[in-house]
Amino acid sequence: MIIGGGPAGYVAAIHAAHLGANVALVEKDRLGGTCLNRGCIPTKALVRSVEVLLEARRASDFGIDIGSIKTNFQKIMARKSNVVSQLVSGVEQLMKANKISVYRGTGRILSPHLVKVDDEEIATRKLIIATGSESALLPVPGLDLPGVLTTDDILELKELPESLVVIGGSHVGVEFASIFNGLGTKVTIVKRRPLLLEPIDEEIGRRFAQTLPKQGIEVKIGAAVKAIRREGSVLKVVWDTPGGEHGVEGQMVLMATGRQPYTEGLGLSELGIRMDGRAIVVNEYLETNISDVYAIGDVLGKTMLAHVASYEGEVAVENALGYPRQADYRAVPSCIFTQPEIAGVGITETQAKDSGIPYKVSKFPFLACGRAVTMDETMGMVKTICDAENGRILGLHIMGPHASDLIAEGVLAIQLGATARDIAHAIHAHPTLPEAVREAAMGQLEGSIHFQRM
Ligand SMILES: Cc1cc2nc3c(=O)[nH]c(=O)nc-3n(C[C@H](O)[C@H](O)[C@H](O)COP(=O)(O)OP(=O)(O)OC[C@H]3O[C@@H](n4cnc5c(N)ncnc54)[C@H](O)[C@@H]3O)c2cc1C
Repeated sequence: MIIGGGPAGYVAAIHAAHLGANVALVEKDRLGGTCLNRGCIPTKALVRSVEVLLEARRASDFGIDIGSIKTNFQKIMARKSNVVSQLVSGVEQLMKANKISVYRGTGRILSPHLVKVDDEEIATRKLIIATGSESALLPVPGLDLPGVLTTDDILELKELPESLVVIGGSHVGVEFASIFNGLGTKVTIVKRRPLLLEPIDEEIGRRFAQTLPKQGIEVKIGAAVKAIRREGSVLKVVWDTPGGEHGVEGQMVLMATGRQPYTEGLGLSELGIRMDGRAIVVNEYLETNISDVYAIGDVLGKTMLAHVASYEGEVAVENALGYPRQADYRAVPSCIFTQPEIAGVGITETQAKDSGIPYKVSKFPFLACGRAVTMDETMGMVKTICDAENGRILGLHIMGPHASDLIAEGVLAIQLGATARDIAHAIHAHPTLPEAVREAAMGQLEGSIHFQRM
């Protein structure tokens, strides 16, 4: 029995079915969880609309004249909803195809081997909790004002706001800033600390932050927001500075202030599950302190990413079904779908410095990558961080076209313990963007072919 049908729970259910288990999945909302319904997928559908718009705007640079370009926000949002529905129905079909019993309702755990779904009690030998997370809102006055939105709310807007203040500069906040700025909203990001986008390499984060004003996104740093007020037709987000109160105005305000594990109504304290605040504590096999009860995904309150949630789903299922496997987090990629994209895996340069490992950095700019030039997307670079003694890839960080796809090579390299020479000796197709990864790896050795530092 799995409680929660997000990317942790539904993937666990399918994997358990593949391994021959009799599987039940409980979901109180739509299958697919945050990721499909209110997270990864709808945001990336919107990102795609922005990409198409930006390409259309510069079509004449490529010799294509397409006349005047107009955006239709309602159509953009309708397309986003269709993409979500298509993928949710795909998950529903996978449940049927894998003969998974889906219980629609709220699951409450009565004992490690008994779960109540609304009025029905269902016995299980193993139990996996995958109830995910919810928005963590900044507890400031004005939170309830109309126009102050959570990330769930903003995905349901009917009209494009003229201006938007994004509180918080997390991956999610920056992605929304990029989307709405791309569509024509005046966007200001308000953040307490400098925008570094951890766990992305600091240099890449800094370089990306420098592109924001050029894109028209204003960033206010050092802003510990104390209130949101309505002033006439706008909302004002305010904070104190040594020189007095400061504020920025916007038609709407997005609270992108992070997420917290969600376990409401599960009955965890009666069960005696060990918690760390709101998060469920598990061991390296993803088992809780109660035997036969596992927990996966955002509810662990650690790396709140869909691919980590799904990975944990597979690991927990194998452990529950008697195939012991420890969770291994050496190579967790992190991607931000902005303009340009950013992605990273492994350690950052600061972490390398702090750890005292002898390390070497090499970088390759997209400006020197033939494919990037043909695409006219030359902003950014690939940066590798290697162990200076054995050449092992410790970190790969990318800002530039298709960074989120290119990072897969770094994931595999770190997972397999590959060296820069392994990457350099692998033939990469030409002309492609992955050649930039290979060239950056060559920079760790005798030198990149197509880039020479003067
Ligand atoms: C705006 C936004 C953008 C994001 N973009 C990305 C991205 O690009 N890439 C990425 O990797 N991650 C992204 N994320 C994070 C990603 O969505 C989460 O990490 C992921 O959804 C976690 O999966 P999960 O299965 O653990 O939890 P969830 O997806 O939250 O699913 C939990 C499910 O459990 C159900 N549930 C809860 N309690 C009960 C109960 N008692 N009974 C029955 N059902 C219950 C809920 O209804 C929900 O469907 C984004 C998140 C947001 C908010």
